[in-house]
Amino acid sequence: VIYWCELAWLGGERVEDGVLLEVEGGRVASLELGVAEPPPESQRLDGVTIPGLANAHSHAFQRALRGRAQAERGSFWSWREQMYELAASLDPDSYRTLARSTFAEMARAGITVVGEFHYLHHDREGNRYEDPNAMGRAVIEVANEVGIRITLLDTCYLHGGIGEVLSPVQRRFSDGDAERWAERVAALDEGPLARIGTAIHSVRAVDPESAKWVAEWAGERPLHAHVSEQPAENEDCVAAYGRTPAEVLADAGALDRSFTAVHATHVTDRDVGLLGTTGCGICLCPTTERDLADGVGPARRLHDAGTSLCLGSDSHAIIDPFEEARAVELDERLVTGERGIHAPADLLRHATAGGYESLGWEPAGLEPGMLADLATVGLDGVRLADAERDKLPAALVFAATAADVRHVVVGGEFVVRDGDLI
Ligand SMILES: [Zn+2]
Repeated sequence: VIYWCELAWLGGERVEDGVLLEVEGGRVASLELGVAEPPPESQRLDGVTIPGLANAHSHAFQRALRGRAQAERGSFWSWREQMYELAASLDPDSYRTLARSTFAEMARAGITVVGEFHYLHHDREGNRYEDPNAMGRAVIEVANEVGIRITLLDTCYLHGGIGEVLSPVQRRFSDGDAERWAERVAALDEGPLARIGTAIHSVRAVDPESAKWVAEWAGERPLHAHVSEQPAENEDCVAAYGRTPAEVLADAGALDRSFTAVHATHVTDRDVGLLGTTGCGICLCPTTERDLADGVGPARRLHDAGTSLCLGSDSHAIIDPFEEARAVELDERLVTGERGIHAPADLLRHATAGGYESLGWEPAGLEPGMLADLATVGLDGVRLADAERDKLPAALVFAATAADVRHVVVGGEFVVRDGDLI
């Protein structure tokens, strides 16, 4: 298959005109720049084509809370009660239906890979389904039916809080112990568009001994964990263990290049150093962090310390990777009183390559050898119609929305064409 991109972003400060991509076996085989006219046999991608966008932190079912959970007063903890109510009501069929809407919306937003942080494992009483992986398989199948890649971050969840028993709704999240969690996860299969990764829900839900066990078992697989999303999580952790969540995870041997800390909003200077020197990923979820009144994390300091950043839409209050990307910069402006903290090209990299790395996929984009996962943003919409070509990477980050995405290609095949899901 040959794709002709009217314009393409190859990672720099500018976009290239007329880029011809030859795709073989789902990967970019060759690339030619400056091709003014599309050859007759090529598929036209009018607009500016960028590597596929990665959504590195998703709880697919939480999209159903949209509008329900936003209008009320409260905190993260009152939101969690509403989320638990929803979680209690789901079975594999309703989970599938919810996930289908979520992943379809993602595909139309230009998202080509999702990291599903999955802890809804068992039935409402907490018993295993006949297939203990019925829920996980449902979510993988739905992502693949829609046509996007998925890393199922199968999540170990054992306690209701530090030293607390599981509440009735939390029982369906737990396998009882880390060994039984691993035995279940080992039965999951990967596929051309599916990888199996791992997660420690948080230091609230997994004790240090079990975290160590999970980190060892995970080995080279992606390992994610919610880290310091809320001040109360830090306070409980320090009170119980005399250490912060990042310190507990470091002592458990979890922190390395295959680890991604989700949120890292309320991290200490020492935590920033630990996460940086071990080369961890950090998944920022700014639209959810806003929605839940979590706070604004120190993205610049985390990046400077040596972490690689990626983005997630988490609770899916909205699904818009451009909004997540600009929020990293704009939210930090509000906190610091400074502008230009993150370069636009860096923000685009966090929204694309950063997520692929965090989710255990090879690089995707427009270079030869890469997975041919692409998103094309139309320039005929009201927001970008007058954007100057040599300022396009910045215009995409600061003005584009998910609604401007026209075409999406995964593994060399159209998933969205002219705005419609194939
Ligand atoms: Zn989350």
